[in-house]
Amino acid sequence: MDKTRIASLIERIGNLLRSEERASGAESGLQSVHVQILSYLSQCNRYSNTPAGVTEFIGSTKGTTSQSINILDKKGFLKKSIDDKDGRVVRLYLTEKGEDFIRNEFPPAEFCATLDMFSAKDSEYLSQLLTKLLVQLQLKNNSKLFGLCNTCNHFKKFGLGNTHQCGLTLEPLSEEESFLICREHEQSANKTV
Ligand code: SF4
Repeated sequence: MDKTRIASLIERIGNLLRSEERASGAESGLQSVHVQILSYLSQCNRYSNTPAGVTEFIGSTKGTTSQSINILDKKGFLKKSIDDKDGRVVRLYLTEKGEDFIRNEFPPAEFCATLDMFSAKDSEYLSQLLTKLLVQLQLKNNSKLFGLCNTCNHFKKFGLGNTHQCGLTLEPLSEEESFLICREHEQSANKTV
């Protein structure tokens, strides 16, 4: 296995994606990191939409993330709201403008067009391999997994009769929520996808 080649390929793909994000955000005055934050908030569940969740996902510092969140707030792409149950926690929600931006600009058009060249089977295989790689890298780095809810060890399919349940919080989860990513996601090291 040529590990240098694999690392270099992933690095290059990441750089190209960042470059496309910069281009798609330029008209709205957004940098690549702002696009990543909006994308994260469009995919994460209700346990993960906090500044701490964004910081962990982006892998940036608390201060830098906070500045980016304030810029997105000022530009009207997201809004902050105090948590109903815990007044110390700030929740972040996309505004209509933020949702429109993500719907139109993420993933970037060139990236989508390139993926369209792959067959459904190849795309699925690529997705599985990348997921496997990412999960193992995150486990080795002791990072949060941010996996899909319905692949979590705590996920209880139809745990509440007709409704799914989170085994950690014991709260109900809708079908839509079961496809969102979560900072509390837990997966055993030998379960790779
Ligand atoms: S089941 Fe897991 S991923 Fe889903 S909400 Fe609970 S902790 Fe998060």
